[in-house]
Amino acid sequence: MKTPKDRRKCNLSRSIITTTTTTTATISASTVLLILLTVITCTTYALALDIRNIGEEEKDQFITNSGNEKKQLEPTNDETRYDDDNTRPTHYEGTQLWRIYNITNYLGKNRTPLTDVLEYKYGGDVWKENLKFLDVSIKKDQLKRARQFLKQNHMEIEILNYNIQKLIDDEAAIGVNLTQSDFGKRTRKSTASGMHFKDYHDLDTIYSFMREVRGKYPNICRLYSIGKTVEGRDLKVLRISENPRDYKKIWIDGGIHAREWVSPATVTFILYKLLANWTDQPDYIKQKTWYIMPVMNPDGYEYSRRENRLWRKNRSPSKHEQCYGVDLNRNFDIGWQSYGSSTHPCSDTYRGHSPASELETQAVVKFLTKRKFNLHSYLTFHSYGQLMVYPWAYRAVKVKDANILQRVANTAVQRIAKKTHQVYRAAVTHEVLGLAGGGSDDWCRAALSTPFVYTVELRDRGHYGFILPPDQIIDTALEGYTIVDTVAQAID
Ligand SMILES: [Zn+2]
Repeated sequence: MKTPKDRRKCNLSRSIITTTTTTTATISASTVLLILLTVITCTTYALALDIRNIGEEEKDQFITNSGNEKKQLEPTNDETRYDDDNTRPTHYEGTQLWRIYNITNYLGKNRTPLTDVLEYKYGGDVWKENLKFLDVSIKKDQLKRARQFLKQNHMEIEILNYNIQKLIDDEAAIGVNLTQSDFGKRTRKSTASGMHFKDYHDLDTIYSFMREVRGKYPNICRLYSIGKTVEGRDLKVLRISENPRDYKKIWIDGGIHAREWVSPATVTFILYKLLANWTDQPDYIKQKTWYIMPVMNPDGYEYSRRENRLWRKNRSPSKHEQCYGVDLNRNFDIGWQSYGSSTHPCSDTYRGHSPASELETQAVVKFLTKRKFNLHSYLTFHSYGQLMVYPWAYRAVKVKDANILQRVANTAVQRIAKKTHQVYRAAVTHEVLGLAGGGSDDWCRAALSTPFVYTVELRDRGHYGFILPPDQIIDTALEGYTIVDTVAQAID
């Protein structure tokens, strides 16, 4: 978008062009050149300003709930209890979202985790798990049976949502509404790439935006394709730096889990926000090298947009014909064989057949390992739960500098509370989410000795879960940016 002042400048230039063309009887070649140059300069100027103002309208409603990132507690090694049919419904009419309490009351036969029982016997889809409760969606035709089972095992149910499909439909409708003009067209295409923060975007738009940004700031931006996915999509990372050789590095990624749409949106916003005010940014921002990867799992992300809104993993084929995908955040080579992941390809937390078996994992590991010198922070954005957590997740101890990590996280959380009135919690991962191996955060800390490693669980706390309405994107992204700003300041 252009400001009125900018528009006036361009209109002025255009009126000069009009006057020139009408009052000159014969237009010389040099005049044509001058006109062309004026038009090009004006257009370029307008484009350069385009990314400065998108997403500035803020303040939506605030909703406080409670929830957490999914982590399983028990190792799952018994493959025999699964059947091959893991086809998930792509339509969720009448599917409810339950929060189940007293989960420790469940003593499964053969140590079968509750999550597996719900997934495979009652068609459940686990959204979140922590030490206190479990969020799981249950299909309409299984509600009665699942309720009986939970009652028999002395567990309590809170119904967070009565119809997941309505959430999905509303999410789409809100996006359309917010991007419509009075004339009924989707016009909020503020940049050439079509990027704005009123709705979620497909991968093409996010990548075009990255190319557009690189084109506008060629002196400080570099765009990498760090690898390809199984389905042939690029894995893209944008670097922003005035001095890549010397400045301290901060890595930011999003979209490891496909259905957590607000994560790529937030990371894209962070990219925009850093550059939109680049010349006015404080030194602790400008004197850093930023690596930004908005979508670490492009295949999964596109699948969640086209086929199944609640898809989590990537799209690797497996030995089970009908079961696709590895949970990339269980695939890194750290505590890979321990807790919190599954050995079964049909599970939503399938860890892969070996550590770093996946192309996405390999690409990130290779890229970061090569750049580990001066890498001071690894920030990875997920949803939902409103948490800022730090290592370890794969074992029940804290890192030696946990007090520093906690202090910085406390500051970020306090700043968020002031800015958007949302409650985020800062803690060590295993204490709030339970144990889980194979995470990107733990890997970065252990393998590369990166000091400031955080996993951020963005909005919300359980009402909308993964299906966060688009009118909450900007405020959520501001919360993400506040975390980035706070960590950058701490590294100064
Ligand atoms: Zn996640």
